[in-house]
Amino acid sequence: MARLSFFGAAGTVTGSKFLLEHNGFRMLVDCGLFQGLKQLRLRNRAAPPFDPSELDLVVLTHAHLDHTGYLPVLGLRGYEGRVLATEATGDLCGVLLPDSGHLQEEDARWANKRHYSKHDPAKPLYTKDDALRCLAMLRPAPFYEPIEVHDDVTLRFYPAGHILGAAMIEARLSGKGGGKTILFSGDLGRCARPILPDPEPLPDCDHLLVESTYGDRDHPEEDPASELAEVVRRTLDKGGVVLIPAFAVGRTQAILYMLNEMMRDGRLDPAIPIYVDSPMAIQAIRIFMRHAEAHDREMRTQVARGEDPLGLGNSRLCSSVEESKALNDVTTGIIVSASGMATGGRILHHLKRRLPDRKTTVLFAGYQAVGTRGRHMQEGAETVRIHGEEVPVRARVEILDGLSAHADRGGIVNWLGKGKKPSSVHLVHGDPDARDGMASYVKEKLGYETHRPDYRDTVTV
Ligand SMILES: [Zn+2]
Repeated sequence: MARLSFFGAAGTVTGSKFLLEHNGFRMLVDCGLFQGLKQLRLRNRAAPPFDPSELDLVVLTHAHLDHTGYLPVLGLRGYEGRVLATEATGDLCGVLLPDSGHLQEEDARWANKRHYSKHDPAKPLYTKDDALRCLAMLRPAPFYEPIEVHDDVTLRFYPAGHILGAAMIEARLSGKGGGKTILFSGDLGRCARPILPDPEPLPDCDHLLVESTYGDRDHPEEDPASELAEVVRRTLDKGGVVLIPAFAVGRTQAILYMLNEMMRDGRLDPAIPIYVDSPMAIQAIRIFMRHAEAHDREMRTQVARGEDPLGLGNSRLCSSVEESKALNDVTTGIIVSASGMATGGRILHHLKRRLPDRKTTVLFAGYQAVGTRGRHMQEGAETVRIHGEEVPVRARVEILDGLSAHADRGGIVNWLGKGKKPSSVHLVHGDPDARDGMASYVKEKLGYETHRPDYRDTVTV
């Protein structure tokens, strides 16, 4: 019998790590960082519940840090093998992992500044250099083609439609105790979204691990592009600037795609200046343009025709600090900058400058976690603290719903119900309420029983 162990994303949305063992072959699916609550983050520091030096292979579903951010630690703890991921995922890891190492170093520096102790200085979980070193382990995996990774294990990557390069991964087991297929959904995207393909219909499988991030919710039905156009028009009409805090990878590109599409079809004035102020987002835009194999048909056709769907020619890309500072003088237009919840990055300078101005609209491009500046502003805070200063919030604050990169409960049940019924379904990557909601919804709509694994659970399949 093969064994499947849940070493992350079990009852939470971070730290994705699943260990599959079959006939002596040991493969880790995803290698994510635990984020959020301290009790979860401490797991990043503790010895992992498996020996990294005994792994034969690591495979990644997609580049988000909650699926890849532990990779440098795995390297530091003795893993020397290959890491298989789609090419686009590999390229995005090349941007996200070094940045994560840099942030770990910054956090350690801050901690040491505040509570200096000669005996117990804070150390980064890993450094930017550690992250750069682990990138050498990456090997590209094509979509759809079978990849034999062991005599008794063949993998196949299918598009998951979540972010560029995101895949669901099928493991077909043969030999003694084999004759079965396990599917890891990774994060599942949504149908008919800009740039990305729809998630692949559920391939036949015997055992399924499926995410449940939005397992107790449905997304709003409004069209995010129309909402975006409305906010832009209203703000520019009164002579202001639209400030969009957005995640550098994924959200920024989706927004640029929508803006440019609306400028082409006349819904927005093509003369409206767009500024992208985030070196990481700019790198990611170039990666997005390069990977036709990870695009939907519309995006691929536009790129093949030499068109400019993300508006690279149209937008002003601010890489240098000088270019960023020059935006202080801008009096009209759209500024897109990171981070998405205003927890750090260049957006802070723009907020400091423009929040006191009633003509500004701050348009958050997605969910704002509890405790972030974004959440405070969403809840109507009259001031926010930026770089030690209380800044008055006179600008209009809005949230653009409907840009989530995850399928909601309806989307997941629809995807699940259209395929062959697996003999076991394991709900992962969901907080307890969301996961319980998903379990009841799947039972109600499809009559399937599901398994809700805990951290460190092991099942035989
Ligand atoms: Zn993700």
